[in-house]
Amino acid sequence: MLGLIAACVSACTPGVDSTSTDVADAIYHGGTILTMNGTSPTYVDAVAVKNGVIVHAGDKDGAMAMRGSRTAVRDLAGKSLLPGFIDPHGHFVMSLNMISQVNVSSPPVGPVTNIPGLIAEIQAFKDRAGIADDDWIVGWGYDQEELAEGRHVTIEDLDPHFPNNKVILIHVSNHGAVLNSKALAEYGIDETTETPFGGVINRLPGTNAPAGLLMETAWLPVVSNMPVKSGNELLEVIEDAQQLYASEGYTQAQDSASRISEFSLYQRASAQGLLYIDIVALGIFTETEAWLAPGAYSFGQYDGHLKLQGIKWAQDGSPQGKTALMSAPYLTGGPDGEEDWYGKPIQPKSDLIAQVHAALKTGIQVFIHANGDAAIDHAIEAIEAAGVTAADDRRPIIIHSQFQRPEQIDQYARLGISPSYFTNHTYFWGDVHLANRGPAQTAFISPLKSITEAGIPFSNHADFNVTPLDPFFILWTAMARESRNGTIIGPEQRVDAYQALRGLTTGPAWQVFEENRKGMIKEGLLADFVVLSANPVETSVDDIRDIEVLETIKEGITIFPR
Ligand SMILES: [Zn+2]
Repeated sequence: MLGLIAACVSACTPGVDSTSTDVADAIYHGGTILTMNGTSPTYVDAVAVKNGVIVHAGDKDGAMAMRGSRTAVRDLAGKSLLPGFIDPHGHFVMSLNMISQVNVSSPPVGPVTNIPGLIAEIQAFKDRAGIADDDWIVGWGYDQEELAEGRHVTIEDLDPHFPNNKVILIHVSNHGAVLNSKALAEYGIDETTETPFGGVINRLPGTNAPAGLLMETAWLPVVSNMPVKSGNELLEVIEDAQQLYASEGYTQAQDSASRISEFSLYQRASAQGLLYIDIVALGIFTETEAWLAPGAYSFGQYDGHLKLQGIKWAQDGSPQGKTALMSAPYLTGGPDGEEDWYGKPIQPKSDLIAQVHAALKTGIQVFIHANGDAAIDHAIEAIEAAGVTAADDRRPIIIHSQFQRPEQIDQYARLGISPSYFTNHTYFWGDVHLANRGPAQTAFISPLKSITEAGIPFSNHADFNVTPLDPFFILWTAMARESRNGTIIGPEQRVDAYQALRGLTTGPAWQVFEENRKGMIKEGLLADFVVLSANPVETSVDDIRDIEVLETIKEGITIFPR
C-alpha cells in the first residue's frame, strides 16, 4: 500500500496544463485492470479519473495524455484493480447493532460449538461489557444446527445462569430468536399466548409454556421493540460500520428491510456528511402504507450517498430455520418436531398480491424474500398478477430464490424477474439442507450456472450478518459449492471466478438500476474501485479465499485504508 502511494510522489510530474478540462485527477496503471465489461474477462492498461468519474479506460498513452501537474499517477505495481464490490442484499443496520451485541456464532464465524460454550460466551460478554442485572443481553449468529446437542437452546438452559437479565439470542437467519424467561415476560409471552399466523413458538414438552424459540410473525413484534441504542449513539458508530464494508472492498451497502426510524437515521447521517459509501435502503413491508403515503418519500434517486430504492417483502422464513415455505414436506419435520411440515408463509398470498400490486402501480421497485419453492410461487404470482412482463423492465427481485425449481427460471425470464442468490448456503447449511430436503432439491440451490445460461442478470449476496461480508468467501462458495462436511452441493452449478464476480458487480448494479453508474470500469461510470492482491480470474479455487483487499476507492477517493 505504502509502495503505491510512494510511487505517485516520484511520478507526479507536470504534463498537460492542469487547468485544462482534459486533466485527470488520478491515473492508474501498471497492474491488472479487470473491467467486468462483457460476458468474459476484458482488461485495459490504464484508467484516468476526474471528479470521481472514469474519463478514460483503455491504453496507457491515452491516460497519460490526461496527466497534469496535480494528477496523481498511481503505479499498481502488479496488483489488480476491479470495480468496487456492490452488496446485493444485506442488512447494513446490523453492522451498527452488532457493536453492542455478543457473537454467539459457530465456527468459522464465532466460537460456539455447544450449549455450555454458548452460556460461557454470554457470561464472558456480560462481565467484559459490565452489563448489570436487569439489563439486556443480545447475541447474534445463534445456530442450533451447529450445536453438539443438536437441539434448540431453551429457557431451562438459560434461566439458571441468567435469572436477572433479559437475554435474546438472535437466530442466524435473523428470522427468529431464543429468549430467556425474563425476556419472554418483558414481551408478555406466556402459556396463554397463541401462535400467530405464519409464526412459530416452541413449547416445553407436554405443556403450553413457551420454551424460548420464537420465529417469523411470532418474532416480529419482539424485533420491532428490541432495546436499541439512541440515534446519536448509532451515528457515533456509523463510521466504523462503513469501514467494515470498505475493508472488504464494498463501495455500496444495502439495508434491506429498513424501518422508517432506521431510514431517518441514515438521512441524518447523510445530512451531516457522515456517509462515504453508498447505502441503498429498501423499506420494510410492514410499514408499506407509510412508505407509499403521497409525497412522503422519493424512491430511486440519491440524496448524497443515500438512496431509497424500493420496498422489501418477506414471504417466508429460512430453510435452516425450517420456516421456508416448500411445496413438499421437510424430511425431518418442523422446528418443534411437527410432522408433515411445509414451512409457513409470513402472510396470506392474497395480502402479498395486493401490496405488491399497490407498489408496482405507483412505479416502485419490488423486492420479495422467498426461500422455499412455494414462497417463490407466491412471489411470481404476485408479480404476474400486477401485469408485469419482461418488456416492462421493472426488475422485480426475488431475494434468495434459494430452493427454486428449474422451471421457475423460465417464469423469471418471462416476467423479467431477477434473483439475488446466496451461494454461501452451500457451505454453511448444505449438509443441513441435504438432511431436511434431500439431494435433488439441495443440488439446485442458488443455481448460478443455470441462471447464467438463461441470460438472466443475477447477484450473489452474503445477507450480512447472516454470513460474513467477505467477498472472496462468496466467490469461493459460488465456485466450489463445498459444504462444511466436504460434500459438493450440485457440482453442475459451479461457475468460474468471472461469472461469480458478476454477482458482486454488474449484477447488483443492474438490479438497482445503476448499470450506467457502477459495476464496471468504463468511461462515464463512477470511479469506485477495489485494489486486490491478486486477480480472482487467474486464481485457483483453492486460493481464492486468500486474496486480500489492499485498497478501496469511492468516486476517486481512498476510503480504505483511511
Ligand atoms: Zn436478508
